[in-house]
Amino acid sequence: MSLQQIFATRTHRMKASEIRELLKLLDRPGLLSFAGGIPDPDLFPAAEFSQAFQTCLTPAHQAKALQYSASEGYPPLRQWIKAEMVRIGVPCEVDNILITSGSQQALDYLGKLLLSPGDTALVGWPTYLGALAAFNAYEPRYDQLNPTGNRSPASYRQAAQEEGSAVKFAYLSPDFANPTGETLSKAGREALLDMSEELGCAVIEDGAYQALRYEGESIPPVLALEIKRRGGIEDCRTIYCGSFSKTLSPGLRVGWVVAAKPVISQLVLMKQAADLHSPTINQMAVHQVAEAGFEAHVAGLKRAYGARRDAMLAALQEFMPEGISWTRPEGGMFVWLTLPKHIDGGQLLKRALEEESIAFVPGQAFFADGAGCNTLRLSFSVLPQDQIRSGMQRLGRLLHSA
Ligand code: PMP
Repeated sequence: MSLQQIFATRTHRMKASEIRELLKLLDRPGLLSFAGGIPDPDLFPAAEFSQAFQTCLTPAHQAKALQYSASEGYPPLRQWIKAEMVRIGVPCEVDNILITSGSQQALDYLGKLLLSPGDTALVGWPTYLGALAAFNAYEPRYDQLNPTGNRSPASYRQAAQEEGSAVKFAYLSPDFANPTGETLSKAGREALLDMSEELGCAVIEDGAYQALRYEGESIPPVLALEIKRRGGIEDCRTIYCGSFSKTLSPGLRVGWVVAAKPVISQLVLMKQAADLHSPTINQMAVHQVAEAGFEAHVAGLKRAYGARRDAMLAALQEFMPEGISWTRPEGGMFVWLTLPKHIDGGQLLKRALEEESIAFVPGQAFFADGAGCNTLRLSFSVLPQDQIRSGMQRLGRLLHSA
């Protein structure tokens, strides 16, 4: 019997991510990639991090920076995050916060915390591919989350019960979601809370792009709205996941979870078992850089990414043929295109790479049920405006011929 034959059943649903495979092909000269949803490396606060790491390695700090540390996270960073959460409308204490290795680790832990095999997870169709990848290991059943639609909570419960399942959580990214760029209205967030209350399930709120709003009024996080309802975080069902990946650096792998203390305590046990703690020196450096000028840095990102979003929306308007529709994100990194039914995003990508030297992500991978063949995700975060325009011109040409 080969080793593969004795892999645990949870591995059966763990597939290679289309995006990761794709990213390997994108170094070709002249290729304009709208595929990776990554920050622009030219906008990293590299000088600030250089200084921060040097400070961490001085005799005064090295013993702490290079040593094992608490699973909950570096206390000054937790303190900084607490203040930031309060600023965005989420009153909490330091003990409501756990530092994770990116918010991706938080999604894995939350799958582990909440899902027994066969339990139901409600996710958007489409939703963040990495969330599906994290949850898949815990062998859930999925159902389609649509807080602004007219499906009743009872219908979710009934559909789950018919398969011997129970709804455990709803996962969503309410601000500038990956992959659609869409934002859930305040009424939608309230409806989601009503539903979670009625179903007795958790809400996993993914705030990965929350800080990157380029237009319009910010809407309180779902957790903020729930705290208002219940008078404090300890009775809340919402679990918030935050990240420094889109604002400071994804490579340092620093994210966080905010939730009621019993949730945090259980997650701390998972962290102890998985990796003891996130790298101490990275947490210290992130704290130093955030403390010195997070707001000013994020303001610069918003100017740069906002201009690129504008460039992409203008170019789509200029070059897309009839029959193509797209989202108008108020922040984040993505625009989502819906093509006529007969055009397959995967086939189109092959032609796009060969004929026009552009790349994007076919939308199907973002659907738990494998739908969405005629959709694709474009990221506007990395390329300068003139290249965005040129890329959309090439895409328009390709779609005309398709
Ligand atoms: N959530 C969403 C919606 C994302 O797009 C990403 C990164 N692509 C993550 C979570 C994970 O980010 P990280 O682990 O770097 O915080």
